[in-house]
Amino acid sequence: MLRIECPVCGQRDYTEFRYGGDASKPRPAHGMADRKAWHDYVFLFDNPKGWRRELWQHVLGCREWLILERDTATNTPGKSILARDSADAQMEASS
Ligand SMILES: [Zn+2]
Repeated sequence: MLRIECPVCGQRDYTEFRYGGDASKPRPAHGMADRKAWHDYVFLFDNPKGWRRELWQHVLGCREWLILERDTATNTPGKSILARDSADAQMEASS
């Protein structure tokens, strides 16, 4: 079973979390009305094999959004940080 490390609550079963998509995909600007940009952001995605950065929400815990590194080939979880703590700088700094 996949166990995810929540930075607030500690290690928990994945059933406490909700998958939120690819964390490396740029989100359209808030208030942007370009329907195609939002369509592409919400519905179009790649499904590559290997290590990915994903958004997960701890819905049955602290309700925080996390950025989790996960190997999609083996379902192995890696590092996780709070999404509100600027993902790029912290993931690279802790590597
Ligand atoms: Zn939590």
